[in-house]
Amino acid sequence: MYPISVGGAWGYNRPMRSIYDLSLSELQTQLAAWGYPAYRARQIWQGLYRNLWAAPADFHVLPAALRAQLAEAYRWQPLAPVTELRSADGQTVKTLFRLADGRQIETVLMKYGDPAAEVPPRRKRRRTLCISTQAGCAMGCTFCATGQMGFQRHLTAGEIVAQVIRFARQLAQQGERLTNVVLMGMGEPLHNYENTLQAIDRLNDSQGFAFGARRFTLSTVGLVPAIRRFAAEKRQVGLAVSLHAADDDLRARMLPIARRYPLAELMAALREYAAQTRRRVTFEWALVEGVNDSPQQARQLAALLSGLLAHVNLIPLNPTAGFAGRGSSARRVRAFAAVLEEAKIPVTVRLRRGVDIQAGCGQLASRTQPTAKPDAYS
Ligand code: SAH
Ligand code: SF4
Repeated sequence: MYPISVGGAWGYNRPMRSIYDLSLSELQTQLAAWGYPAYRARQIWQGLYRNLWAAPADFHVLPAALRAQLAEAYRWQPLAPVTELRSADGQTVKTLFRLADGRQIETVLMKYGDPAAEVPPRRKRRRTLCISTQAGCAMGCTFCATGQMGFQRHLTAGEIVAQVIRFARQLAQQGERLTNVVLMGMGEPLHNYENTLQAIDRLNDSQGFAFGARRFTLSTVGLVPAIRRFAAEKRQVGLAVSLHAADDDLRARMLPIARRYPLAELMAALREYAAQTRRRVTFEWALVEGVNDSPQQARQLAALLSGLLAHVNLIPLNPTAGFAGRGSSARRVRAFAAVLEEAKIPVTVRLRRGVDIQAGCGQLASRTQPTAKPDAYS
């Protein structure tokens, strides 16, 4: 947990924690300390996570004095929108948020299966939110815009939760619902293990937001000890692993952290995960022309995955400022996929969503300098 101090530099003191940083039991402890009966905490919890109320003033079920205490003690808007970009087809929207300390993160909402974009057979309507777990990232993957920024800090559980609640509220106002949450925005979720899993558990809580564990997909670069821990905790959350290369040398050149966790160790941990959870593992593979898109790499990948309940997502590399590689041509993507199909490994070629607004996979990075504008928060 990184306490955010917003006093000092900005010349005045504001509450440090956001209301979304509290677990139900912390909220209960707080309410008891203020001398309120236990049911008040449940009312607040339901107001926040069922009714999606945004401000203390919305909590008309509470006495005015309690609303005032809540307003004074906690930050209610941990995310201040800075810019919003919409893709040309209107189906992808990227929002840049400023956090309380001026750091910035991005969140991407993707719409699938809208009537206008419908191709038979009718696809189910999906609303998928891609959320960030860190500002920047320490893993330094060469082809990733977030990796190119370096690490700034972990997000708090509340900052992760708040991204989801904000978009759930926005969709609810349009008569829609969030259907999936993918932890594929900025940052490495398993490097920020505690806060990320706390956020998922909070959103999963049946007395609150009740978002099914299976509707989350956590994507990791492959931190082996954290994967083992995640497996042992036996959540129903989906796991995706960014593989991108089927031999250690190439993988370490693309993903420096792979030097620490060789493929043999990673695959052993994933086999254990699959055995413990009986869940399919998704493997992400960004195809870079002439680098990791050869039929030879595809055959090595098929060998690595043999006997494992797996699914491979292929995506031609999205362009980023700090990496010279290009996305593979459609012909090379098809050839790569064909090798996997031959080996009976389920494979999907993913659409390039939101690439025109730098909202595609691995393109998230805040470009503007943090500017302190404290009045954007309450
Ligand atoms: N840190 C986690 C999750 C965030 S990145 C992870 O690495 O898995 C989400 C996905 O985007 C990962 O699969 C990542 O490898 C991929 N990615 C990063 N940069 C990309 C790029 N330029 N083009 C395509 N995919 C990219
Ligand atoms: Fe971090 Fe994932 Fe980007 Fe690698 S691909 S730098 S782990 S966000």
